[in-house]
Amino acid sequence: MKRLEQLYEGKAKIIYATEDPDRVIQYFKDDASAFNGVKKGTIVDKGVINNHVSTTIFKYLEEKGVRTHLVKELNDREMLVKRLEIIPVEVVLRNVVAGSLAKRMGLPEGEKLKAPILEFYYKDDDLGDPMINEYHIKEFGLATAEEIEILRQQGLLINELLFEFFKQRNIRLVDIKLEFGRHKREVLLGDEISPDGCRLWHWETGEKMDKDRFRFNLGQVEEKYQEVYHLICNKA
Ligand code: UDP
Repeated sequence: MKRLEQLYEGKAKIIYATEDPDRVIQYFKDDASAFNGVKKGTIVDKGVINNHVSTTIFKYLEEKGVRTHLVKELNDREMLVKRLEIIPVEVVLRNVVAGSLAKRMGLPEGEKLKAPILEFYYKDDDLGDPMINEYHIKEFGLATAEEIEILRQQGLLINELLFEFFKQRNIRLVDIKLEFGRHKREVLLGDEISPDGCRLWHWETGEKMDKDRFRFNLGQVEEKYQEVYHLICNKA
């Protein structure tokens, strides 16, 4: 499948059309951004790592019955996916206190949650992705009641499956951001699942192995992305 014209360029990926109107190509860049685009930079080979890691995880989820947009990996930086109409709601699942939850609740990072927390954010860069709930989603027509139920159920299921998946690889899944989209009247998991959109801590040492290293200038950014890649892709 060859790529045709560029349809969209985001912060970390480019979407290209293909000869098939139902299929698009996700091209993974090395560009990194944080704090709603205020901090910009490059993480060498991040695109290759995120493409491979996402493909491995989407395949695993498909095996477990989760419907995703993955068709197949084409090469190091390109993934062929089903074309989605993205639902502008980011679904965040949390297992451990970190990031904006620590701030909002005035808690230190690292406290384990008794049960996963599910949150919705309105996917809008100009507004800085504000937190919303199902009343906002329904009122402003971002998704139907039926779709909200799918986001909730699939979100919790994916978090549960991936918590175990990462645990077997000595990684703690602290939190994760998921995006979904519509394809032929079906809701599929889209976007990517990589250290860019998850918090991943080493199971024993608690060392951060995700984009927080870039966000907060913790150093060894490339090394930790590589480590996640080896733990995920060499075991799978
Ligand atoms: N996240 C993301 N994109 C966003 C916001 C958050 O991928 O626009 C991910 C983030 O990497 C983390 C999880 O969602 O794994 C929860 O993020 P949080 O709400 O704590 O916000 P942050 O601290 O990243 O601003």
